[in-house]
Amino acid sequence: MPFKSPIPNHYDIIIIGAGPAGATCALQLRHSKLNVLLIDKATFPRSKTCGDAITGRSIKTLFRCCPELVEQFRTFPLKTEIKHTRLNINHHKPIDIHWVNEAYCCRRADFDQAFLQGVRQYAPNVQIVEGFQVNDIIEDDTVPGRYIVGNSNQQRYFSTQFLVGSDGTQSIVGKKLTTTRLEQNHHAGAVRAYFSGVKGLHLNRTEVFVLPEFMPGYFWVFPLSEDTANIGFGMLTSSIAQQKINLKEAIYAFIQASPELKARFDESTQEGKLEGFGLALGSRRVPMSGEHFLLAGDAASLIDPASGEGISNAIVSGKMAAETIVAAFEAQDFSADFVKDYDKKLFKIIGKELKTSTILLRSFLFAPKLLDVSAYLMGNPFFKRLAKRLM
Ligand SMILES: Cc1cc2nc3c(=O)[nH]c(=O)nc-3n(C[C@H](O)[C@H](O)[C@H](O)COP(=O)(O)OP(=O)(O)OC[C@H]3O[C@@H](n4cnc5c(N)ncnc54)[C@H](O)[C@@H]3O)c2cc1C
Repeated sequence: MPFKSPIPNHYDIIIIGAGPAGATCALQLRHSKLNVLLIDKATFPRSKTCGDAITGRSIKTLFRCCPELVEQFRTFPLKTEIKHTRLNINHHKPIDIHWVNEAYCCRRADFDQAFLQGVRQYAPNVQIVEGFQVNDIIEDDTVPGRYIVGNSNQQRYFSTQFLVGSDGTQSIVGKKLTTTRLEQNHHAGAVRAYFSGVKGLHLNRTEVFVLPEFMPGYFWVFPLSEDTANIGFGMLTSSIAQQKINLKEAIYAFIQASPELKARFDESTQEGKLEGFGLALGSRRVPMSGEHFLLAGDAASLIDPASGEGISNAIVSGKMAAETIVAAFEAQDFSADFVKDYDKKLFKIIGKELKTSTILLRSFLFAPKLLDVSAYLMGNPFFKRLAKRLM
């Protein structure tokens, strides 16, 4: 152990990962007197493989955390406001779902950049370090409860009393401090690309397509402008492995297999590369905290298993993480028992929804015909609610 106590660069809190979970945690900590370091390996604006759909609860929670930032985002030109979703299930008549809450589509490069800018603007107690990949996390034996995080190649280190892992699906904090590992049944794979020249886009409507030959998974068309959209396809990782599916080929095959999509994409142009990434689904409950640390967002496996939506739970968990940390500093209690309150409170808010989505996912996985039945019965309000869960 090369560290002597005290080492320079000590922070009350270090947050690793400045995506929606980490940025929300940092923003929520702006009212505390704690000094915070927010680290990200990327330099913003950075691309993030995502569908770019920012659903209602994200904006609502963000508003509670920092209304000024939401007001600013409302005037941001590079986004579309989403009012409806059209579900196209197995060639049945399309089903339209209307959204009450404020929701948007916005490229994550833009959204996350605006978010981080908000932290810079509204949280003066937060120092931001970009372009710094943490590859080393050490529990300091010389000072109980102190973590040292840094990059061994650069020999640059920071120390902290409380560590937040908001570093996404492949979280280094999760790998170092918990025993949770990837399980194919609780993990999905998805690919996305941007296309221009797509016909029939409606600026206020996202679209989802399900086809029997590509089950269990779905294809999305999320509009970003009059003729540009985020196009993607995702599936459960265990099904990808079992069916030996190449997602990067499947997305183009999906367009060809749907007469509607084929016609709408025949004059389109793909902008940039098709990118793929994994999704840590909230279909299992994993440990999210311990002595002097907690995990938020994808690092804590909080993605909705039925829809693949993770931004809102990242934001909700980031806010809850900050509230728990402030309480821990007030009580000067950083024990695993005290911090576990975070897991309990978070699951009170999002646990029921994750459970319902898990049941839906499993039902459609083992009895795909259920999808046809629900599409057929869509006139029934109960089934309409069911479909809403799919989004
Ligand atoms: C193809 C695809 C489509 C999706 N579509 C949607 C959608 O439309 N709507 C939706 O709500 N959700 C969607 N999701 C899920 C959504 O992208 C995530 O749930 C969301 O980004 C989680 O936010 P986060 O802050 O937890 O993690 P992230 O957004 O992944 O942020 C983690 C940050 O940590 C940084 N980082 C990672 N490792 C380190 C390290 N070692 N050192 C320093 N920094 C590090 C990264 O650079 C990154 O900025 C999709 C996911 C995929 C893969």
